[in-house]
Amino acid sequence: MLAKVIDRVLVVGGTHGNELTGVYLVKKFQQFPKLLENNSFRTTVLLANTQAIAANCRYIDRDLNRCFAPQDLADPTVCDYEGTRAKEIAAQWHNEFSSQQSLIIDLHSSTANMGLTLLLANDCPFTLRLAAYLSQLHSDVRVCLAASQGDGDRRLRALSPLNMAIEVGPIAQGIVDARLLQLTEMLVMATLNYIDQANRGQLLPVAPEITVYQSLGSIDYPRDQNGMLQAAIHPQRQFQDYQALNPGDPLFLQFDGQALLYTGNKTTWPIFINEAAYYEKSIAMTFTDQHQVAIAQ
Ligand SMILES: [Zn+2]
Repeated sequence: MLAKVIDRVLVVGGTHGNELTGVYLVKKFQQFPKLLENNSFRTTVLLANTQAIAANCRYIDRDLNRCFAPQDLADPTVCDYEGTRAKEIAAQWHNEFSSQQSLIIDLHSSTANMGLTLLLANDCPFTLRLAAYLSQLHSDVRVCLAASQGDGDRRLRALSPLNMAIEVGPIAQGIVDARLLQLTEMLVMATLNYIDQANRGQLLPVAPEITVYQSLGSIDYPRDQNGMLQAAIHPQRQFQDYQALNPGDPLFLQFDGQALLYTGNKTTWPIFINEAAYYEKSIAMTFTDQHQVAIAQ
């Protein structure tokens, strides 16, 4: 049978401390734990970067979602705040979850127009079918497959081979938007319902195929030798996440008003366009390839 039985679900908010959608949804679940109760598995919630949440910033020393590579978790010289916090979370994970079939749902938000993006590992039939189910519930759901990072994956959710991030936007950092909060809650509750049904041998129906966006890699802004921007995202491209970018289309706008065109030779579908948190990562957008994948029924 395709569906694996799930014993535990971990819902994580605040991996980035100023992404308040996940923070406040987890706080709501902490206040009303009955919302997460069901008979076939147990759901636990976690606020990940507690100090960054208190300070309303993305992180204290460095990005917590890049601290979970196994070699870093085992490195005694790693002792900054996020490195230490990652070790605490990983130890809790291994004590409570790792012996069971456990799914991690990591809640994020983006300043880019990501809609209701489900970020999946690209080789997991269970989460792909789950994403196909969730895609039916709202027209803004998009399914994005991350490039495989193998054992060197540094993200929190990679603690489990069964994992999914929900990335909603556009929303500014440090902002709560009731609509996005409700839609994120809807996706989490629908996921828990899907799993409960699967645990009972009941696979909820899904479309025979869905559109997925496979991450191909990222490009930076044009910069000078000092790292200063020489151009901004072109107005015709801003907020156009998941829209086709064809050879010759405007991509950036130099400050002298001249457009810089996309010089690639094939169509791509950029996402995370002008994400505020990615300026420091030298990422202006991430290119993806769009294709259809068949879903096991
Ligand atoms: Zn995030």
